[in-house]
Amino acid sequence: MTIITRFAPSPTGQLHVGNLRTALLNWMAARRAGGRFLLRIDDTDAERSREGHVVAIRDDLAWLGMRPDAEVRQSDRFALYERRFRELAAAGHVYPAYETPEELDLKRKVQLGRGLPPVYDRAALKLSDADRARLEGEGLRPHWRFRMNHDGPIVWDDGVRGPQRFDPALMSDPVVRRADGSWLYLLPSVIDDIDMGITDVVRGEDHVTNTAAQLQMFAALGAAPPRFAHVALLTGAEGKLSKRLGSLGCDQFRLDGIEPMAILSLLARIGTSDPVRPFASAEALAEQFDLSHFGRAPARFDEAELAQLNARLIHQLDYAAVRHRLPDGMDAAAWQAIRPNLERVADAADWWRVIESAPAIGAVAETDRDFLRRAAKMAGEIDWSNAPWAALTAGLKAATERKGRALFLPLRLALTGREHGPDMAELLPLIGRDRAIARLAAAAG
Ligand code: GLU
Repeated sequence: MTIITRFAPSPTGQLHVGNLRTALLNWMAARRAGGRFLLRIDDTDAERSREGHVVAIRDDLAWLGMRPDAEVRQSDRFALYERRFRELAAAGHVYPAYETPEELDLKRKVQLGRGLPPVYDRAALKLSDADRARLEGEGLRPHWRFRMNHDGPIVWDDGVRGPQRFDPALMSDPVVRRADGSWLYLLPSVIDDIDMGITDVVRGEDHVTNTAAQLQMFAALGAAPPRFAHVALLTGAEGKLSKRLGSLGCDQFRLDGIEPMAILSLLARIGTSDPVRPFASAEALAEQFDLSHFGRAPARFDEAELAQLNARLIHQLDYAAVRHRLPDGMDAAAWQAIRPNLERVADAADWWRVIESAPAIGAVAETDRDFLRRAAKMAGEIDWSNAPWAALTAGLKAATERKGRALFLPLRLALTGREHGPDMAELLPLIGRDRAIARLAAAAG
């Protein structure tokens, strides 16, 4: 059987890290099995859905390298929902109810006051045809509830949480359609999962109760449900559900110079027993994807860990993979030299400038001037074809008895304008003989 998964975001905002993780887990589940990964835009809420968000969702997935095999939009599928809804209504699986939100609120308060669970009392099921006609005569339009089957518990073997058991009698019959005819999330999602042949759904544990209700909807529609797996939600570094994570998405990652593979490498592994490490490709991540490694403890998403992972990833990136993002003229040797110092690929441009153009240098200590003058002279005498930094520093060490910081720092400052940076042994050949001599001489004054 072909594995078919889907990512079903509502285009009511930017995708946040939690959404990206859900997308990734479903993408990996499909890729690993040679299956299909579908994008379903859950845009039944016309008021809150925005076309701009739909475009951003596609862009984010493309940027992260998770291209869907197909895309559907719920707003294109109302005829299908209508048809299946009618079947459910004819079979008595959905029923009209007329309570106002205020009435329902009052019922709940009374139940809670009596120490009872606030479960809908199914008063609407007791209405006669005459009652309904009267209510509609008063101008009331019904909303629709799915009638939960109370014969026995709802059970499933969750891909992450293991055996699950719910008592349907403790659940309110969920509202599936509003009085204005618009759809709530639960039912169209089930209709789509059936129609699209979805075999596996991985989603956040905030959907566990929805799954209990939806399993009954699959049964009412005469379809076998997909396998469900609910992963623990993300928390911030401090272990708490964090507001920031709800607004952290690809825009911010791009701004921060975070590589797509750093995000994917982290999101694929947090909440699992596997170590977090940089992966070079999403395919390599997918190959090692195993749902059974996910635990029930909250998954910590730590931005500092992401930044570190990003740096580790960049330090391994091949020139070929980044050359189109590097300044003109920057070659493989320069990338090799600079790479270990980068936290963001974009910062390569700063170091390239350091190599290419004379850096601004601060005041040079009087005691260093003579040293730098000698350095400039020696730079003209050494063999530049073979390890010039070793030759230069060895020569200066012998001639001046300077060593360590006193030997290296004035040279680094004069040559790069900075106290720290890439290995000078790699940088100096890139700066080259003429520029090095000029910089050392200029610093000597
Ligand atoms: N649109 C729903 C959400 O974003 C989809 C949930 C699901 O995976 O079924 O929460």
